[in-house]
Amino acid sequence: MTERLYYADPYRTHFRARLVEAQPTGDRLAVVLDRSAFYPTGGGQPHDIGTLAGYPVLEVVERADSAIVHMLPAGSVLPEGELEGVIDWPRRFDHMQQHTGQHILSQALVQLFQADTVGFHLSQSYSTIDLNRNDLGEEEIARGEALANQIVFEDRPVSWRWVNAEEARQLPLRKPPAVHDHIRIVHIEGFDWSACGGTHVARTGAVGIIKVTHVERRGAETRLTFLCGGRALQHYTALHTLTSRMARQLTVAVEELPEVVQRLQDEARRERKAREQLQGALIEHEAAALMSQALQIGTVRVIAQRLTGRAPQEVRQLASRITAHPGSVVLFGLAPGSEVEPAGRSKGQLFFARAENVTGDMRALLQEVCREVGGSGGGSSTMAQGGCDATRLTEALERAQTLLRQWLAS
Ligand SMILES: [Zn+2]
Repeated sequence: MTERLYYADPYRTHFRARLVEAQPTGDRLAVVLDRSAFYPTGGGQPHDIGTLAGYPVLEVVERADSAIVHMLPAGSVLPEGELEGVIDWPRRFDHMQQHTGQHILSQALVQLFQADTVGFHLSQSYSTIDLNRNDLGEEEIARGEALANQIVFEDRPVSWRWVNAEEARQLPLRKPPAVHDHIRIVHIEGFDWSACGGTHVARTGAVGIIKVTHVERRGAETRLTFLCGGRALQHYTALHTLTSRMARQLTVAVEELPEVVQRLQDEARRERKAREQLQGALIEHEAAALMSQALQIGTVRVIAQRLTGRAPQEVRQLASRITAHPGSVVLFGLAPGSEVEPAGRSKGQLFFARAENVTGDMRALLQEVCREVGGSGGGSSTMAQGGCDATRLTEALERAQTLLRQWLAS
């Protein structure tokens, strides 16, 4: 069992220790010392990094026999006797801020709402706690956050000591300890008592600030994502940069952004509506022009036209505008516009439609034409749509007219 130096002093970054074992495992060397200041992954907190005898410590894990195993690159050559360990302080301190912040936030939510923390995870860029309630609203979370920050600003001492099971029972622990004896208690003066083996700051002021950034309901639980200290500052800086840039782009003050965005949205909506109206008028105009060129076949007016580079939705709109007139049939072939079509692909589309009072099945007509020119399609008896090679569109339209003539004659 390794003596854990971080228990007594989490601020200790340098230590000397004796080598107990060094085992090559895969591409790593697993090193055990008689004592270590390296925190191994556990209790929701990731491991420390740093150096051992000058070699980088890649990972630190706890073995079943309670030994702390330091993973070094394979081929590391350790000296005889004592070696020096150095903890990466920015990462350790960041973990201390997040972990202490978690104790404070969890206790604040217990005191205000009896919401117990049932899960904690400290990841590379954010931390989460899972609460055993799913009915806390925005306002409650904000009150919890405010109380937590009040405790931070009061700069209360944080201390740790070992107790036995009997002593632990006398303390108002936030949750029952995972071990039964020799229990490590982390105490935030007058506020929170927790059984915890992690690393914490010595005074709450060092947590800096606690900010909840996301709330997510998960069944009967709620997951809060939060940032403390340096992470909260980074987040604030990123948001400040972002909002300032947006405000500069729109030449307004940051505070005016919501109002300006709303105005831009309203404007865009009005313009979209105006464009749709104009488009409608254009389609109307185009429909009238096409109808003036209609072929009269018996009692039916046939509008056969090859179009290029139009949006299919617009072509359908044009077709229905024309077939709203009794006695009309539309045969459209749509060739892709050269500038919009990806190289090597040239697919044409066919749109056949008829007015309600014209007899004949447009889907059957389309399928018959497609059989002859190669292609496929479907739809209803009044409106059918399909595709064929763009080079055969003209042939398809001619074929459709011939078939239509035969149908109407029979
Ligand atoms: Zn802790």
